[in-house]
Amino acid sequence: MAICKRKRIEIRGVVQGVGFRPFVYHLALRYRLSGFVCNTPDGVMIEAEGADSALAEFSHCLTHDSPPLAEILDVVTCEVNPLQDTEFKILASLERPFESVLVSPDVATCDDCRRDFTHPADRRFGYPFTNCTNCGPRYSLIEDVPYDRARTTMREFRMCAECQAEYNNPGNRRFHAQPNACPACGPGVWLVDAAGVNLPTETASEGATNPNLDVIREVRRLLRQGKVVAIKGLGGFHLACDAENDGAVARLRALKRRSDKPFALMSADVSSIARFCIVREAEQKSLLSSRRPIVILPRRPGTRISSAVAPANNTLGVMLPYTPLHALLFGDNPEDPPAFTALVMTSGNMSEEPIVTSNEDALRRLGSVADAFLLHNRRIHMREDDSVVRVFQGKERVLRRSRGYVPAVIDLGAPLAEILACGPELKNTFCLTHDRHAILSQHIGDLENYETLVFFEETLANLKRLFRVEPKVIAYDLHPRYLSTQYAFEQSGLRRVGVQHHHAHIASCMAENGLNEKVIGVAFDGTGYGTDGQIWGGEFLVAEFEHFERRAHLRYFPLAGGDAAIRQPWRSALSCLREAFGSDLPDGLPLWNSVSKRETALVLKMLEKGINTVATSSCGRLFDAVASILGLRHEINFEGQAAVELEMAAVAGTEGVYPFQLEFTEPWQVDVRPMIESIVRELQEREAVGAIAARFHNTLAVMIAEVCRELRRREMLNKVCLSGGTFQNMFLLERTLTALADYNFEVYLHERVPPNDGGISLGQAVIANAKVKKGV
Ligand SMILES: [Zn+2]
Ligand SMILES: [Zn+2]
Repeated sequence: MAICKRKRIEIRGVVQGVGFRPFVYHLALRYRLSGFVCNTPDGVMIEAEGADSALAEFSHCLTHDSPPLAEILDVVTCEVNPLQDTEFKILASLERPFESVLVSPDVATCDDCRRDFTHPADRRFGYPFTNCTNCGPRYSLIEDVPYDRARTTMREFRMCAECQAEYNNPGNRRFHAQPNACPACGPGVWLVDAAGVNLPTETASEGATNPNLDVIREVRRLLRQGKVVAIKGLGGFHLACDAENDGAVARLRALKRRSDKPFALMSADVSSIARFCIVREAEQKSLLSSRRPIVILPRRPGTRISSAVAPANNTLGVMLPYTPLHALLFGDNPEDPPAFTALVMTSGNMSEEPIVTSNEDALRRLGSVADAFLLHNRRIHMREDDSVVRVFQGKERVLRRSRGYVPAVIDLGAPLAEILACGPELKNTFCLTHDRHAILSQHIGDLENYETLVFFEETLANLKRLFRVEPKVIAYDLHPRYLSTQYAFEQSGLRRVGVQHHHAHIASCMAENGLNEKVIGVAFDGTGYGTDGQIWGGEFLVAEFEHFERRAHLRYFPLAGGDAAIRQPWRSALSCLREAFGSDLPDGLPLWNSVSKRETALVLKMLEKGINTVATSSCGRLFDAVASILGLRHEINFEGQAAVELEMAAVAGTEGVYPFQLEFTEPWQVDVRPMIESIVRELQEREAVGAIAARFHNTLAVMIAEVCRELRRREMLNKVCLSGGTFQNMFLLERTLTALADYNFEVYLHERVPPNDGGISLGQAVIANAKVKKGV
């Protein structure tokens, strides 16, 4: 008889809500082990008893055959005294007030569940809240850890006998699936008009009644008629309409006051998307991943998708359904063709407010936009927007990190101080650190109003609770007027560390690439507060975590009129023209016909006298200036619009670079006045705008490489980190990488964290950590 041993195995990582305990249970049965498995606040704990060899195989399989969604970070094993118990059990959660569990992000519907709700004979046919251990809501409904139904918003529903039996049966796919539900016991949907009055739904289902499906079929009918429907989803509401219906899309755009900002789309399957976008293999992988992000895709010309979906943009953001509710909007019979090629699925909010999550709020805030409301009674605990990614060089790059990605942690390799990094103002995220992990919040949005600040605070309280973090250090942006900065100053008892915006960008890129050394950092974006009180945004740094030097930047030019200068690119154009040509401004520019003489005269006077002006080295404003000089756009209605349109205008394959000058002052200045002069001359010579736009991009790429080469000559550094919103520009990024590769630089880009200001908080956290540890 083999000797019996008992081992205690503690596993940390994403191991709750991903089918890990059933997996352990089955494994224990296979190896005839007794003992137990339970969730703990920091993962799962197993005690297993049996023959030595069986225990060894069991331990091996634990880490090598774990369920697809599990992510094991750490396994600690020790031997304990055998208890001679006779069976293996799944115990109720073990509560221990130490360390943090890693909570799973929400997971898109799995194929097995899809079969359940599209199979007419299944009891979950047409049921919009079908889920199992391998899929379904997590972060959006978990109120506390350990992850049990009683600590989710599903606690309001009591499982029926059938669901309970599934939940209790270790052989069932829904064994311990906390949000398990069915039409008999779980949440349901209903349909109301803007006044909150129930709308009639035809009972189309034969035989047994299926009120959920009737509602969804009615919504399908309304959408086909061109109606706008507010639909409560997983992390918030969407406003939906048929993307091929010009009238509906235009109406939604007008009602939502969304100006020209692109709408996201949802399609039933990849083949539907392929009808209006080009889908390559890597993009298909992202579309189909269990995170189900919005993927930015090149759009095919001449499709029936309304041009009002994304005006003046040759890309579209598209996602696949990620809940049964979304899948059912396209049809309930897998044999039928989808009811729509694509639906607009834009966040249910007004202009810049956070996405709406409650039924009452939806009716109050979206009442003037939606014709009907598909509501449900599963409470959304954590609001999240859809995530946005794009594929570059075969890799998925996150541009907006939210549903499906949050709260997965970023492992920084070594323990950090407990820090709260408050993030920037636009595209805010914040970052908590715990042990060796960075916990980034979901996309909070632009911290410019009270509602968004409340969302920031709610999310912070939630993540502190879920991860059991109590920060001792608080990091903030240097901009005194940012709400995130003001928040940092309102907190008492914490050590405060101010972090420069572009330093944070570069540190963020370093951190996610595992770099902890001196690098050349190129941070190009719209706005960041500089240590000299000016607005930076075209920056070349030599940086490490605890320290940076600003070694070069785009030559300053004055911006007149504060925020108006951002809304009106013609103001940047005027300033750049004045810098290049003095008072003798060139004739024949489109700008002179588009902006009133009175306004240009006023701004010129402001620039001349330095009234209400600020100096900037912003690359974003340089894009604005060139877009306006070329006549592409003089006023914008969403951030980065002029830059996007300038990128779209650039014609690939155009040769040529404009002159620029590098002045070796301290810090060095990149003088782009020669470029502005050349652009104006070519425009006057009637060169095509698309060619000029391309040469402008070429020039920036070459300029970046040249400045990096000069820096390498002096600093002997070969690693370059590229960060900042400007590098979302693919035309520029491709050319910059080519130019840097020609000089054999090692270049690092963002991947899991956005290059835009959504990635700032990670950089703030690692910088604050380095400063605290070095006592700087
Ligand atoms: Zn499932
Ligand atoms: Zn049930």
